[in-house]
Amino acid sequence: MTLLNDRTVGLPAGLLEDLRAAVGEQHLLLDPDLLPSYEQDWTGRFSGRAGCVVRPADTAQVAAVVRACAAAGVPLVTQGGNTGLVGGGVPAGGEVVLSLRRLTALSEVDRAAGQVSAGAGVTLADLQRHVRAAGAEFGVDFAARDSATVGGMAATNAGGIRVLRYGSMRAQVLGAEAVLADGSVVTRMGGLTKDGTGYDLVQLLIGSEGTLGIVTALRLKVVPLLRSSCVALLAMGSTQAAVDLLPVLRERLPHLAAAELFHEPGVQLVRRHSGLPAPFEGDVPAYLLLECLDRTDPSEDLLELVAQADGLLDARVATDAASARALWAYREAHTEAINAEGVPVKLDVSVPAAALPGLVEQLPTVVAAVAPAARTVLFGHVNEGNLHVNVLDAVEAHDAVTEAVLQAVAQRAGSISSEHGVGRAKPAWLHLSRSTTELAAMRAVKGALDPQGLLNPGVIFA
Ligand SMILES: Cc1cc2nc3c(=O)[nH]c(=O)nc-3n(C[C@H](O)[C@H](O)[C@H](O)COP(=O)(O)OP(=O)(O)OC[C@H]3O[C@@H](n4cnc5c(N)ncnc54)[C@H](O)[C@@H]3O)c2cc1C
Repeated sequence: MTLLNDRTVGLPAGLLEDLRAAVGEQHLLLDPDLLPSYEQDWTGRFSGRAGCVVRPADTAQVAAVVRACAAAGVPLVTQGGNTGLVGGGVPAGGEVVLSLRRLTALSEVDRAAGQVSAGAGVTLADLQRHVRAAGAEFGVDFAARDSATVGGMAATNAGGIRVLRYGSMRAQVLGAEAVLADGSVVTRMGGLTKDGTGYDLVQLLIGSEGTLGIVTALRLKVVPLLRSSCVALLAMGSTQAAVDLLPVLRERLPHLAAAELFHEPGVQLVRRHSGLPAPFEGDVPAYLLLECLDRTDPSEDLLELVAQADGLLDARVATDAASARALWAYREAHTEAINAEGVPVKLDVSVPAAALPGLVEQLPTVVAAVAPAARTVLFGHVNEGNLHVNVLDAVEAHDAVTEAVLQAVAQRAGSISSEHGVGRAKPAWLHLSRSTTELAAMRAVKGALDPQGLLNPGVIFA
């Protein structure tokens, strides 16, 4: 028997039966009480009603779901851990939500190749545990590790805190399996690091945000597990001083694995919600958190650099795991502390490194011009010129704030989305980062692979 409700009445007759046949009764979710966690994003900024939620167990079931939706002409929204910050994984209204969290297979780590295969629904934390048990490490890391899935990370080309050492998700993916919009399956899991046989379909899927195909498995690179670490939190005289230190860091610290920038308003929020003590006496113009990872203790090099850094006001250095975690908490707790204050306008941008200090200085003024009561909190991955712009108390001025910030970024030849994607949040501003010719080529690719426009409609393109 099919239980109909006000969500499902819009779905064509027969589709629910086909979906039930594809994934089984238990994994076709129709009960309105079970759907809300799939219908709203992590920040509470994006929500929409799902026609239903399906939870396939493997690639064959994903393909059967896609074939059923394609035959019925019903759009799909693919969802992994639902930690994305641009609304790409939540329905706009009436779509079938395809949750990939049950695709959790992991292969043994192939030590000869330095690779591992993972189902799209494997969380980053589970992948880390798995490869560490085999004496290896995964090159991408960020705070949403307990929920974010490798499929979602590939689809958004996630970056995080280790990009300066290992690159973003794109650099870790050596193969993929994906279901295309007609339900056909492309399998390219061989993991060849050299392959000159024409268009790279695997890389085309990276950063495509579920609009070109549904990733069901990935062949991923692993990197050496480096157990010796040293973390330093630097109080800098200015953002400019932090940016000026970058070439010195790259030259003198070959084992540098993270360089994170944040500011006093963010630290105040983190302290309010976590109870952490002040890291230094008095207000600090710019905080720079550095982490070195190596086989042997990297403390000496880091301490030497810290002692000689221009623009340094004060520093704290941690050489044991507990005090390193305590210093990282000032940075990693930013997103949750901001969310605890209310729903922010949330933008993730990047500019050339030299332009970063000017942008940091200008943004509060740019925001205040359109939202005078707003509080602007900035933090980010300084080596990539990547700034996470969070504006609190400005939800009613969402579009005006977005426009003002993204125009300031575009004026500095920056990107309107550095690592979170375009999603449903930024299609209206995509032209600020992509030329008319590029947009036409991107639409042509989308039209060729998904002619009915069934995969994540409204994501990337309005
Ligand atoms: C506290 C916090 C910190 C974060 N820090 C960072 C950070 O430092 N760096 C960073 O890059 N991101 C960060 N993020 C954003 C987010 O975690 C990443 O974008 C992550 O890659 C999303 O993974 P997910 O499985 O949650 O994907 P979802 O949110 O479920 O989906 C994201 C997008 O990918 C698509 N998608 C998901 N799975 C698949 C699949 N298998 N095939 C095709 N398309 C798919 C969805 O349709 C959607 O468009 C952070 C988020 C939070 C909440």
